[in-house]
Amino acid sequence: MQKIDAHFHVDLQGIDAGQMIEYMDNHDIEKCWLLTWEEKKPPIDSIYQPLPPEKVFEAYEQHPDRIIPFYAPDPKTDNLEKKIRQYKENGLKGCGELKVTHKWEDKAIENYLRVIDKYDLPLLFHMEEPRRHYVPESESKFEKLLEKLMNGALNGVTRHYLTVFSRKTSILKDHIENHQEYFPGYLYDFSNLEKRLKQFPGIDFIGHGPHFWNNISREQSDILIHQKGRFDEFGIIDRLLTHYENFYCDISGKSGFNALSRDHDKGRLFLEKHYNKILFGTDNTGMDFEGLIRSFGLPKEKLKKIFFENADALIRE
Ligand SMILES: [Zn+2]
Repeated sequence: MQKIDAHFHVDLQGIDAGQMIEYMDNHDIEKCWLLTWEEKKPPIDSIYQPLPPEKVFEAYEQHPDRIIPFYAPDPKTDNLEKKIRQYKENGLKGCGELKVTHKWEDKAIENYLRVIDKYDLPLLFHMEEPRRHYVPESESKFEKLLEKLMNGALNGVTRHYLTVFSRKTSILKDHIENHQEYFPGYLYDFSNLEKRLKQFPGIDFIGHGPHFWNNISREQSDILIHQKGRFDEFGIIDRLLTHYENFYCDISGKSGFNALSRDHDKGRLFLEKHYNKILFGTDNTGMDFEGLIRSFGLPKEKLKKIFFENADALIRE
């Protein structure tokens, strides 16, 4: 079956352009959407990895029949429109990955959407909630361990208990407080996203990221980074995908994989309902997304949509 990987990066996880084509050949992936990441002022340096458009277009020039070039300039960029126009003349097909510490309500985002709309580009974006992030003071083993425990080990469970423990006992309390920095989140305000979906019906929005996918369920735990386990009711993404013709999602990343596999029955129902809005993608994770999608036993017509046709239709003029 033909496939488009709708979420890929070059020079991420050590995958250069050559290795990317090799990966695509090995997995029968005909094309991929190659995405940038650009933030002018990342709030915490250690969680930002620049993925510049030059690299995307270099790879595109080498493999024009395999790569669909995307670029999401930082919304604070001067001459945004000029930049988009120039890249579009060079073959730009979409805007993404937009992963920036803005909210949908921001004026800068409204202006940004006007430009994207004018140049008729789909917009792929990443949603993540604000949090406090531990920044180690040195390379010591102890600091490395604290960094792990505070920022993601055991899906957020160690962060929770270490915070409670340090507050109760005062052990490490000041140390932890002094080394945590505020991370303001990426585009996480769903209610304003919904307003933008209405305001810009001509833009195809493609959601992704932990905050997006955690909202596959209504119930949420405050402790966990990726929500887990079975659930009763679908959350807001189900409603947005149902109501807005211009709203889509990509399943890439640990967050998408987790959301579809945490409750297999609900995962199947979600794909059955939204098969014409869901895009296959991996985000350089190497996880078996194809196996996961196939495990739901969907009819071939629906699989074709998810693996290829939805992504293909979004970048056709
Ligand atoms: Zn990505």
